[in-house]
Amino acid sequence: MSASPPDARRAWRAAAPPERGYAGLTDTHCHLEAAAFDGDRLAVIERARAAGVTRMLVPGTDLESSARAVKLAAEVDEVRAAVGVHPHAATTWNSNAERTLRELAGHVGVTAIGEIGLDYYRMHSPRDVQREAFRAQLELAGELQLPVIVHIRQALEDTLLALSDWSAALRGESRRGVLHAFGGEAEAAAWATTHGWCLGIGGVITYAASGPLRELVQGEALMGNVVLETDAPYLPPEGRRGRRNEPALVARVAERLAAASGMDIERVIALTRGTAQSLLRWEPA
Ligand SMILES: [Zn+2]
Repeated sequence: MSASPPDARRAWRAAAPPERGYAGLTDTHCHLEAAAFDGDRLAVIERARAAGVTRMLVPGTDLESSARAVKLAAEVDEVRAAVGVHPHAATTWNSNAERTLRELAGHVGVTAIGEIGLDYYRMHSPRDVQREAFRAQLELAGELQLPVIVHIRQALEDTLLALSDWSAALRGESRRGVLHAFGGEAEAAAWATTHGWCLGIGGVITYAASGPLRELVQGEALMGNVVLETDAPYLPPEGRRGRRNEPALVARVAERLAAASGMDIERVIALTRGTAQSLLRWEPA
């Protein structure tokens, strides 16, 4: 700490008071490459380490942020990258984008394609444009034998249809991924358990309105499909809402999941870490 400039130390204290951490936490979805972290990224990573986070997956949302995620994975031991074009940016998808994405996906530290998917809520891109960008990136992931990180908003039916088509084209290799920001939709849970996909659970599980999600993880049946995530800087846990989220707060998600499932927190952490490692082919940290 003595090497840190005084300003960085002040930001460290202001942003997050010390909290309890646990060894071996994993955050499978944090936008550490985002501008929101430009002022204190290293301090945020240090806080994640101090909280016990041993792996963080940084997904890109367009080509530029994907390149930043790749760079971060090269620079920071605990970071792995996913590269992809988010449905919000689907209008930027074309053959040049595909070539660039393919090149980015070849870098060391890239362990998934994402985040990709469909978002019929914000509709920053027309539906057919979103569907085409999604389909093309699924195809690329299949070809490169990488799992996918999937964003779904008010588009569950179309998304599961696309993913089922993709999985059906399976030729020996397993095609799987994470349904990111899982909010407790029974249909998505049933699809994921049937097809061996993962459900990314984050700060949403701490919200008062998330009773159905907490009920769904009771009794361990679903827990083998769950991976931890924060979606930082978005979706902070209860008590932090309106503030910037960060990977260290994945500890709060693990605590709430332990309480809701009835499992020990150590078991929740080990189980979700194992699931993330096997899906994303992460070496044990
Ligand atoms: Zn995200």
